Amino acid sequence: MLTMKKILALVMVAVLALAMVACGSAEKDVLTMGTNAAFPPYEFVDENNNVVGIDAEIAAAVAEKLGMELEIKDMAFDSLITAVSTGSVDVALAGMTVTPERAESVNFSDSYATGIQVVIVTEDSAIASIEDLDGKKIGVQTGTTGDIYCAGDYGEENIARYDNGALAVAALQNGQVDCVVIDNEPAKAFVEANEGLKILDTEYITENYAAAIAKENTELLEKFNKALAELKAEGKLDEIIGKYIKAE
Ligand code: GLN
Repeated sequence: MLTMKKILALVMVAVLALAMVACGSAEKDVLTMGTNAAFPPYEFVDENNNVVGIDAEIAAAVAEKLGMELEIKDMAFDSLITAVSTGSVDVALAGMTVTPERAESVNFSDSYATGIQVVIVTEDSAIASIEDLDGKKIGVQTGTTGDIYCAGDYGEENIARYDNGALAVAALQNGQVDCVVIDNEPAKAFVEANEGLKILDTEYITENYAAAIAKENTELLEKFNKALAELKAEGKLDEIIGKYIKAE
């Protein structure tokens, strides 16, 4: 039989345990990461509604090294630089290309991957190479390097902008655009997941991906780069990338 004393003792233990849990989580600082989770295999939403992918895992591994807890905020790609520079997120990892223009607003970490802008067309398309893009309707993700380069090279009037890559690819399938210019790994993922699409053999531009951090937060930049260097040296970075990108 449970006496009053025993019940009280049990209650005390429970209260103590709860207090310890509360303290434990309060002690850990949170690292908030902004991303646009429609860019597989770098970031996408899995069947349990979690943001997963290469960037999410790199950020989690860095956070672990810093003794921090990772929190991911999903937003439009073209909101990320502002989110970082205004401090609404600590860092952005989004398969983001290092560009001089963006580097005016944020600092970039050391690069952790490369990307290549490629062209997706329908299997029966008359477009055979980059040389055929003149005067064609090009679908892009708003604010990405694909958007910026294509608008410069082929003219504003030939660009159709979409909130994310999946919407641009849907527009290609509906015949609203003639091609989609996007990074090579998401391109592969989209072509695999949708019938009747292919990637042109000729590549448009090669770029470096890095994490964006607020200009004034040089402390985090240093810590991030140190953690990233360790992850590279330990082979952990290759392991994460290899989990999502299979060697051809
Ligand atoms: N690498 C491209 C850029 O930085 C696209 C990134 C993305 O769409 N997530 O503009």
